[in-house]
Amino acid sequence: MMELQKPVTERRRQTRNSIYKFIYDAPKPVSKQEISESLGYSLPTIHQNITELLAAGLIRVGVIKESTGGRPPVGYEAVGSVRYAIGIAVSANYLRFLVCDVNQQQLNYKRIHIEANLADEFARQIQRELDLFMRENKLDSSQLLGVGLTIPGIIDHEKDEIILSPTMNIRKMSLGIIRKLIPYPLYFENDSHSAGYAEWICSEQKEKNRNMVYLQLENGIGGTAFIGGHQIMGNNNRCSEFGHMRVEPGGLSCSCGQKGCLEAYCSAFRFTRDLGIQIEEFFDGLSKGNIEYAKLWDDVLEHLSIGICNLRMVYDSDIVLGGFVSEYLEPYLPRLRQMVAERSPFDDDGSFIYIGKHPRNAAMMGVAWHFTSEFIENV
Ligand SMILES: [Zn+2]
Repeated sequence: MMELQKPVTERRRQTRNSIYKFIYDAPKPVSKQEISESLGYSLPTIHQNITELLAAGLIRVGVIKESTGGRPPVGYEAVGSVRYAIGIAVSANYLRFLVCDVNQQQLNYKRIHIEANLADEFARQIQRELDLFMRENKLDSSQLLGVGLTIPGIIDHEKDEIILSPTMNIRKMSLGIIRKLIPYPLYFENDSHSAGYAEWICSEQKEKNRNMVYLQLENGIGGTAFIGGHQIMGNNNRCSEFGHMRVEPGGLSCSCGQKGCLEAYCSAFRFTRDLGIQIEEFFDGLSKGNIEYAKLWDDVLEHLSIGICNLRMVYDSDIVLGGFVSEYLEPYLPRLRQMVAERSPFDDDGSFIYIGKHPRNAAMMGVAWHFTSEFIENV
């Protein structure tokens, strides 16, 4: 495979990029004729760019299906395996790894249990496990675009540090510790911002230009909002910390030090802390009619509906529920929708509440796509 030559002018680069992106976005191989009709470039221009893209291994020849006999017409499609990116979700108990190609297809996944550690040892652990993950999956580092890491906490990109992560018990940790050990381009992002980004990319809200709020339900609660097509980040990169909205004055203690936060009522910790069981066991018992579990669940839904109602009030947007708790929510969605509608002075039903498509992997996908999107933009 040849490296793509740098075009003589920026205008030529843009032409090549729009041809590549047109092929990349198409659901099936496209012909030179189709590209010409859609983008308005001459056939010689398209021919020249396609030759370059083929030589660089970025696209390949594919067969256009609707053949009427004779030689099938030829089209072009994007090659996913030309580069790849890795997403790592860091949490208090687990490191989760995911690798995806340029076509955003997931190739490999791994989850390992970790013990909470001092920052230095923790960084070394990430380095060791990343090395192992790459060796196990025979990933060639020369094809690697970068490694994205998600943290359940607030990140200051300018100071390059984690400001606060209550669930990981981190206050002011320099990201330089990790940068020193890992020799690839690195990108750090808040876990729910990243997960929300992945859900947004795959959402019908994006497709239909609708506003979307993503509420992530895991051991912590976070989220992100896409308003007018843009992800809003806030003045301090801590927009949408929905988990710490107050839903019960003077209520249960929260990891942030306050009382009555949404997170204290509706995170997965509720099941381990109040009942001493894991989430699978909780929802299994709930579906079989366990009275104690049902009582706790009523309380979770009560507070969740208050939280969702507040988000609806602020943003007037669709609400997408994600995170691993959302994997269990489908049977309870009609009731949750009804509870929210009863609280809302403006809504007749809760049909604006959805469950996300990637309850387990969205954070890793989002942070890996940071690199693949950048790559696509720069072809
Ligand atoms: Zn809190």
